[in-house]
Amino acid sequence: MTQDNYESIKVGIIEKCRLLEKMGYFVGTWGNISVRVPEGFIVTPSRVQYDAIQASDFVVVSMDGNLVAGHRLPSSEAEIHRAVLNKKSSVGAIIHSHSPYATAVSCLHRPIPPFVEDLAQIIGGQINCTRYVPAGQHKRIAEEVANTIGEENAVLLANHGVMCCGRDLDEAFVASQILEKAALMMLAAGAIGPVIPILDEFVSSERHRFLYKYGTPHDAP
Ligand code: 13P
Ligand code: ZN
Repeated sequence: MTQDNYESIKVGIIEKCRLLEKMGYFVGTWGNISVRVPEGFIVTPSRVQYDAIQASDFVVVSMDGNLVAGHRLPSSEAEIHRAVLNKKSSVGAIIHSHSPYATAVSCLHRPIPPFVEDLAQIIGGQINCTRYVPAGQHKRIAEEVANTIGEENAVLLANHGVMCCGRDLDEAFVASQILEKAALMMLAAGAIGPVIPILDEFVSSERHRFLYKYGTPHDAP
C-alpha cells in the first residue's frame, strides 16, 4: 500500500456512496464502488451500511483476485469489478447500483440504445443487458458482465441493476445519473412508441468530442 493508504480516494468513495443512497440508487447495502490503484483496485466492503462505512473498512484486491489489504470481506460483486477493470484498461472507476429506472429496463432484458446526446457522449454506445444470473454466483455473473460490455461504458444486469464505468469516480457517477435518466425517458417515451436511436456515426463523433474536446478550446464554437 502507498504511504497514505489511499485515504482521499476512500473518503471520495464514501461521499459518493452516501449521495447515491440519498438519490435512491443504493438501497440498504445494495450497491458497490471500485477505483483502480497501482496494486489492483479499492472496493467497498460487503454488507456494510453506507452511513457507518469508514475508510478502514475498504478492501484492496489485486487484478488477479487476491486480497492485498483490508480486514473486511470485499463486496460480493468484486469479481464483476475485477472482470470489467481487466477487460477495459481505460476504466478507472466503476459504480454498481440498483437505480430504479435502469433496473426496470433490466427486468425487460432490453438494451438501451443511444437515443439522447448525453448518453452518446458519456456512455458511448448501446447499453446491453446480460442474461440473468442468480445472486451468489459471483464468477458466473462476472463472466456474463465482461462478455456483455463492449466499448460502451455501462451494462445492465438482468433483473438486478447496472454497472457504470468512467475514467475516474466523478465520471462513473455522472454515467450512473445519465443512464438512469435515459432509462426513465425510454420508459416514458415507450408509452407512445420506441425511441429513435442516434445514428452510429454521430454516436462515435459525440463520444470523441466528450473524451477529447469538451471543456477545452478545441470545442469552441
Ligand atoms: P455487497 O454488499 O456485497 O457489495 O452487495 C451489494 C449488491 O449490490 C448485491 O447485489
Ligand atoms: Zn447488485
